[in-house]
Amino acid sequence: MSEKILVIGELQQGVLRKVSYETIAAAKQLNANAEILALVLGDGDLQHPAEEMIHYGADRVITVSHANLSNYTSEGYGQVIMEVMHDENPSGIIMGHTSVGKDVTPKIASRLELGLISDAVAIEKEDDQVIFTRPIYSGKAFEKKVMKDEGLLFATIRPNNISALEPDASRTGDIIAREVDVKDLRTIVKEVIRKKTEGVDLSEAKIVIAGGRGVKSAEGFNALYELADLLGGAVGASRGACDADYCDYSLQIGQTGKVVTPDLYIAVGISGAIQHMAGMSNSKVIVAINSDEEANIFKMADYGIVGDLFEVLPLFIEELKLQ
Ligand code: FAD
Repeated sequence: MSEKILVIGELQQGVLRKVSYETIAAAKQLNANAEILALVLGDGDLQHPAEEMIHYGADRVITVSHANLSNYTSEGYGQVIMEVMHDENPSGIIMGHTSVGKDVTPKIASRLELGLISDAVAIEKEDDQVIFTRPIYSGKAFEKKVMKDEGLLFATIRPNNISALEPDASRTGDIIAREVDVKDLRTIVKEVIRKKTEGVDLSEAKIVIAGGRGVKSAEGFNALYELADLLGGAVGASRGACDADYCDYSLQIGQTGKVVTPDLYIAVGISGAIQHMAGMSNSKVIVAINSDEEANIFKMADYGIVGDLFEVLPLFIEELKLQ
């Protein structure tokens, strides 16, 4: 294998984020014949996530464990990624467009004077050129980008858009534990206080049930949680619902919230303001439940139910329980 592509396995509370596997599939799309080298960084025993990366298609994994990597800092992660880049000289680097990827990749790109294509949702090859598709104007249009510079292809990919390869538990590959002295950090994260969240991660969920101001109360959201449980999905919300204190801001989807691209998005009592659509318009199938047949959300929905959500949701839940 002449070329190698570096992918970053991102840990969240000790578990690899799903987008880490998607970076491997993306790397294969860049060059099916390249060696896929994965970097997993954190603090503690990284053997299991390293093996997982191999099962999902990585050929070799470098793990870097250090106390200063127990929590993300751009300096700490940046030092390690740049050191591995320097030694391994990859022809491409792919990372998830997560809050970590969004933060660290531009810093590395500017430090090393590299181009960066961020938030790609598709990768194609035409002749020898690699074309990245990325959404612009809050998802209202797409642009296709190629790297003009010869050399390194550096990109982040939006979670849930490039499907991970089927895992193969019989795959093997070298796992190299590497020592990197992560030092001179100007920022140290002393403690992370996490909000308690249960179930599927909203940004990576295949099914999202989002509630709006039409849900009318925090108690009203219980039906959405029940539906999410039955479907194996995650609950999201409009800013209207968050502002009204029906749920936590961590659930907000939209221009100033999370961007999601699930296979199925069910909007419940959400009017479909442009700022909300910015966070969900690229969902594969959109279903809207709204009592106002003129609601803007119906313009984008693949399926619409004009009705009172307090009648529709219990029927839906009852039907699912029968399955
Ligand atoms: P509403 O617009 O009040 O809609 C409620 C809907 O519920 C209505 O369509 C109504 O017909 C329906 N309804 C009511 N009762 C029922 C019932 N019983 N059954 C069925 N349907 C019912 N918004 C976001 O969501 N995300 C963002 O990131 C975001 N960022 C913003 C950034 C800026 C700078 C600004 C200015 C605004 C932003 N907003 C954002 C706010 C956005 O403009 C809207 O105000 C918000 O999305 C409205 O939320 P909503 O659809 O829940 O509420």
